[in-house]
Amino acid sequence: MDFLRPNTWADALAAKAGQPAAVPIAGGTDVMVELNFDHRRPPALLDLGGVAELADWSTVDGRVRIGAGMPYTRIITELGDTLPGLAMASRTVGSPQIRNRGTVGGNLGTASPAGDTHPALLAGDAVVEVASVRGTRMIPVAEFYLGVKRNALATDELVAAVHLAPADGPQQFAKVGTRNAMVIAVCAFGLSLFPSTGRVGAAIGSAAPTPRHATDAEEFIIGELADRWEQRKSLPDNVTRRFGELVATAAAPIDDVRGTAAYRTHALAVLARRTLAWAWQDYREGSWPACA
Ligand SMILES: Cc1cc2nc3c(=O)[nH]c(=O)nc-3n(C[C@H](O)[C@H](O)[C@H](O)COP(=O)(O)OP(=O)(O)OC[C@H]3O[C@@H](n4cnc5c(N)ncnc54)[C@H](O)[C@@H]3O)c2cc1C
Repeated sequence: MDFLRPNTWADALAAKAGQPAAVPIAGGTDVMVELNFDHRRPPALLDLGGVAELADWSTVDGRVRIGAGMPYTRIITELGDTLPGLAMASRTVGSPQIRNRGTVGGNLGTASPAGDTHPALLAGDAVVEVASVRGTRMIPVAEFYLGVKRNALATDELVAAVHLAPADGPQQFAKVGTRNAMVIAVCAFGLSLFPSTGRVGAAIGSAAPTPRHATDAEEFIIGELADRWEQRKSLPDNVTRRFGELVATAAAPIDDVRGTAAYRTHALAVLARRTLAWAWQDYREGSWPACA
């Protein structure tokens, strides 16, 4: 197996163009598992660890640009105030060791329906910056997931970064697992409130072939909140409950070793109802970002 270790982004793109079958490796927390279990035997590994610009974040046109190789630990410590939903999701990934190595770029590369960052990225309207020697494409994250572990990357493309606007209002992320840590999600839910535009982002994970928006629930709650934002009126239980039911209708889950489809559907409704109530309470009290 060839081992390619570029030191610049230009060299990384050239290497991927030259050997499209080369498998990129960032933190290696998915790739090494696949190699160790012999699920994959690529002709080459393309180690992105030497490309310094992938490992940092910056602000571009008022949005946060997170380099594909920036580990979760730094997202949590450096961006917890700015992107609370993504930071909450990052906190639930694996263990400290996995969070020190694992990256959003790797989560997107794997594109598992159970990847924890996806509901937060969808709810926050993230855009994925991908690049090749042919140029750069900006892909809305909802268009990035094509199927189970399939994404929109062409064979010569790499993920350069993810772009997200700083939180405009409270954000939430919640995940159900069979234990509290080191667990793949049975289901997960991300929520972003956008008080300045009256929008709400709601997205589910581990409950359909791809992570996806709960669009009916989004439309419903946008309508319900329309005359509540200004005076920060309370949200009745029947509204949060209906929101939960509509989030559950977005799911197309399966039965597997982690949980049944019926349990996933039920749990999503509960997660959505609870997180909406928490986020709205934070908004009413002006106490967001919630996880600062
Ligand atoms: C013990 C353990 C626990 C885990 N727990 C969780 C969890 O709780 N939640 C969760 O979501 N995940 C979990 N994972 C999976 C994994 O940690 C995450 O998916 C992580 O985000 C992968 O990031 P990485 O940098 O290690 O990716 P890598 O393993 O380096 O790469 C993953 C995939 O992305 C591709 N890739 C990497 N970087 C790029 C790039 N810049 N451009 C294009 N493709 C790229 C690789 O080719 C590969 O296909 C766990 C893994 C382990 C081993």
